Amino acid sequence: MKTKQDWYALKDTLSLSGQAFINGERTSAQSGKTFPVVNPASETVLVEAAECDQADVDLAVAAAKRAFEEGSWSQAAPSHRKTVLLRLTALIAEHRDEFALIDSLDMGKPIAEMVGIDMSESLACWQWTAESIDKIYGEISPTHGDTLGLITHEPVGVVGAITPWNYPFMMMTWKIAPALAAGNSVVLKPSERAPLSAIRLAELALEAGLPKGVFNVVPGYGHTAGKALALHDDVRVLTFTGSTRVAGQLMQYAGQSNLKRVLTEAGGKSPMLVFDDCADLDAAAQRAAFSIFMNQGEMCIACSRLYVHDSIKEAFLEKLIALAKGYQPGDPLDPDTKMGAAVDRAHFEAVNASVAGAEQEGLHCIYGGTTQHKAGEGYYFSATIFDDVPAEASVMRKEIFGPVLAVCGFKDEAEVIALANDTPYGLGASVWTSDLNRAHRLARKLESGMVWVNGWGGGDPTLPFGGIKASGNGRDRSLHSVLEYTNMKSIWMSLEP
Ligand code: NAD
Repeated sequence: MKTKQDWYALKDTLSLSGQAFINGERTSAQSGKTFPVVNPASETVLVEAAECDQADVDLAVAAAKRAFEEGSWSQAAPSHRKTVLLRLTALIAEHRDEFALIDSLDMGKPIAEMVGIDMSESLACWQWTAESIDKIYGEISPTHGDTLGLITHEPVGVVGAITPWNYPFMMMTWKIAPALAAGNSVVLKPSERAPLSAIRLAELALEAGLPKGVFNVVPGYGHTAGKALALHDDVRVLTFTGSTRVAGQLMQYAGQSNLKRVLTEAGGKSPMLVFDDCADLDAAAQRAAFSIFMNQGEMCIACSRLYVHDSIKEAFLEKLIALAKGYQPGDPLDPDTKMGAAVDRAHFEAVNASVAGAEQEGLHCIYGGTTQHKAGEGYYFSATIFDDVPAEASVMRKEIFGPVLAVCGFKDEAEVIALANDTPYGLGASVWTSDLNRAHRLARKLESGMVWVNGWGGGDPTLPFGGIKASGNGRDRSLHSVLEYTNMKSIWMSLEP
């Protein structure tokens, strides 16, 4: 494992590019405009990035469409696509520390998390998806003997991908790997708050043997480039991870243009339910703290609502507060740091305002609270816990996307199911109980795309990741995600002489 000094030494050798990557080449925005990419831990500019707009998106989509029609990727034998994506996986593994460092500098995440979680899970996803390519079969439908009914899956063409800043490498992996595996061309618009690892990945993809134009990256600032991509008539599938608000806008853009399929992975306000028959309260407290404080709480599946049975709440909160003390904010490049810097000033202020609002409402803050920003020293929050939070309080309802936990007690199963489901979101839910029947009942009754029993956040490339309700409609990971980037075709053949 590298030391802090090793990471700083590696940082000095990094050559960062903020240019767009279109048709196999680095390029500036047509307008010549750029925007600064800032390291939130030091508030210094890392590099200027191309501020792409409609003109650049048009070029990228045209290149992607040409590559698709030319067919050297879209029509290639699945085994060939597998070989190229496995080569790319090997290159990513070789550059694992470089990618970990780029994302950590870009958005403030602890380097230990980048290496141990983001890059590990991303590599597993690339590898699994690449290997799956030549194992997907079509179907024959059970028709009359004089006919043959075939169901096939074909690549859709150009896929537009719009990704967030909280897991830059991992979120793009979950979109790009299956979209490419299925034979599509991709135009990716990474978040303006963390665009650099996407640009670097495009270079490696070319090196791995992906044909020019198959994978393009158009960084942009604000909504301009993303909106142009979402409205583009030659984009057939738009895949998105980000806020519920923007997910809704993208669905409107699809309606205003070509009815493209819109796959959304949106916001969350996930519940954790700890029952009095939980067999390991220490483990539950450890996962509760990890869930809300890791990655500075900037996480879609964070269990930001914690419901603990009344009879064990006091003891549980004691454990939780002791664990929260271990999440002191610190230099993201120090491998011992467990909580890094907020992504930028605007986000820092928004989270702080939510905490201040809760304090003004008279909510009971039992740990942490608002934090001061010292100019030039980075944007650091404090882990924060509110107890006895009523269901209608803003910290219980709104996705804050920071290390802010709302706790509430409960008396019985029916009450806590109603509380847990009382949200527009439906991404993940965590249940702690040693009663097997209760675990199954809860897994069925909780309105969410994912349920973890006696755990939180578990999963691997074999299991879909995604939500219901206002948390979106798409599924990342697994064969289901590969098929989301295909069109299902029905072929009816008459066999009569
Ligand atoms: P965001 O919605 O603000 O931005 C996401 C992306 O959309 C960015 O690339 C942004 O530039 C782009 N964008 C913004 N406005 C746009 C518009 N009008 N048209 C087209 N593109 C536009 O989200 P964020 O702040 O980057 O990320 C945080 C959000 O992401 C949280 O809500 C979090 O829950 C969610 N998230 C969800 C998952 C999941 O799997 N469900 C995973 C990670 C993050």
